[in-house]
Amino acid sequence: MPKEVQIKVISNFVKKYKSGFPLITSDALINGQVLKEEGTIIKLTDEKGNFIGKGYYGKQNKGLGWILTNKEDQPFNQAFFVTKITNALNHRKQLFADPNTTAFRIFNGEGDGVGGITIDYFDRFYLINWYSIGIYQFRNVILDALKEVVDYKGIYQKKRFDAKGRYVEDDDFVTGERGEFPLIVKENGVHFAIYLNEGAMVGVFLDQREVRKTIQEKYAKGTNMLNTFSYTGAFSVFAALGGAIKTTSVDLANRSKAKTIEQFQLNGIDHEAQDIIVEDVFHYFKYAGRKNLKFDLVVLDPPSFARSKKVVFSAEKDYTNLLKETIAITSENGVIVASTNSSAFGMKKFKGFIQKAFEETGESYRILEEFSLPSDFRTIKEYPQGNYLKVVFIKKG
Ligand code: SAH
Repeated sequence: MPKEVQIKVISNFVKKYKSGFPLITSDALINGQVLKEEGTIIKLTDEKGNFIGKGYYGKQNKGLGWILTNKEDQPFNQAFFVTKITNALNHRKQLFADPNTTAFRIFNGEGDGVGGITIDYFDRFYLINWYSIGIYQFRNVILDALKEVVDYKGIYQKKRFDAKGRYVEDDDFVTGERGEFPLIVKENGVHFAIYLNEGAMVGVFLDQREVRKTIQEKYAKGTNMLNTFSYTGAFSVFAALGGAIKTTSVDLANRSKAKTIEQFQLNGIDHEAQDIIVEDVFHYFKYAGRKNLKFDLVVLDPPSFARSKKVVFSAEKDYTNLLKETIAITSENGVIVASTNSSAFGMKKFKGFIQKAFEETGESYRILEEFSLPSDFRTIKEYPQGNYLKVVFIKKG
C-alpha cells in the first residue's frame, strides 16, 4: 500500500481546491516539506484538518501532483481507474465509430480525472504517457484497469519524467503483441506512419486534427503553401490533398526529410513535386526574403521552446518576431495559420502577439477562425490552463 500523508492548504487556496482545482502546487501548501517519496497519497485538508480532496505526489514542471477525488475513503485501486477509463472511453464513442479516423486520444490527464497521464489510441495499439515518477507508482493498477476495459493488440508507454521532465530512452513496449512499424493509421481518411518505439515522438501530433481538416477543406486549394517546423509534414500532406499547387516543408531535424517523404508516399502524393528542406526556419526566412518568395498559405507551429545551434526560441518571447518574418513572405490576401502549444500564455496574449506583429510591419489583417483542443483532448473548466492549444487563422490585408 502506498503511504498516505495529510497536507494542509493555506487558507487563501481552500476555496479554489474545494471548487475542483486539480493541481497541487507548492505555494498552496503549509507542510509540503513532508512530501518525500513520489507516489505518496496526499490527503489535502484545510488548516483545521477538514478534508478537501485526495490525490498523489508526482512532480511535474507544473506542480507537485494531482487531486483525483473528493471522497475521503476512495482507494486508488484498479476499480477506481476502471471507472475513470470507462468514462473516458464513453466520451470518445464517436471517434471509435468513425472508420476514417483510427488515431486519437482516449484519456487526457486531469480532463479525464487523473492528472499526469495520457493514453492515445493508434488502431488497436494503446500508448500511455506517464508524466511523473509519482503516477508511474500506480502503473500496475492502471495497466490492469486498461487491459480490463479495452480490446487491445498491444500497449506501449513513454516515461516522460527524467530530471527535466523529458522522455526517458527505453524499450517502450509493455504488453500484448509488438507492433510492426510503421503502423499505418488514418485521420479523416488520410494516412499516417506511426512508430511507437522510436523515442518520444511517434510521427503525428493528434491535437491538430481539426486544424489539418480545415486547411485541407477550406484553405489549401490553389495555394503555394509553406509549412514551418514541419516535423513529418502532416500539414503539408493535408494541404497537398486539399489542392495546394505546391508545398514547402521546413524543419531543422535531419529525420524530418525521410519522414515527410514517407507521409507523402503513403497518401499517393508525388514528393518530388514538393519541397522538403532541412534547415533552421529563421535561416529559411532570410533566404525566402532574399529570393523574394511569397506564399499564399503559411503554417507556423513552433515548439514552445527550442534550442538550435545558435538560437534559443521561446514562443512566449519570440512569437511576435516569428510572425513578423512570416508576414514579410506572405502574399497579399494570403493566410497565416499561427499555432502554439505553449501553456505559458492564453489566447488573449497570443492575439496580442499577432496584433503587435502586424502593427510593427504596418500591414492590416483579419482573424478568420480560431481553434483550441479537440474534444478527445478533454479539458475541465476548473483547470482551463489544460487547454494549451491556440490556433488562429489570419488573413493578411
Ligand atoms: N508542426 C508539426 C509539429 C512540430 S514539432 C506537426 O504538425 O506535425 C516541432 C518541430 O520543430 C520539430 O520537428 C523540430 O525539429 C522543429 N524545430 C525546432 N526548432 C526549429 C528551428 N529553429 N527551425 C526549424 N525547425 C525547428
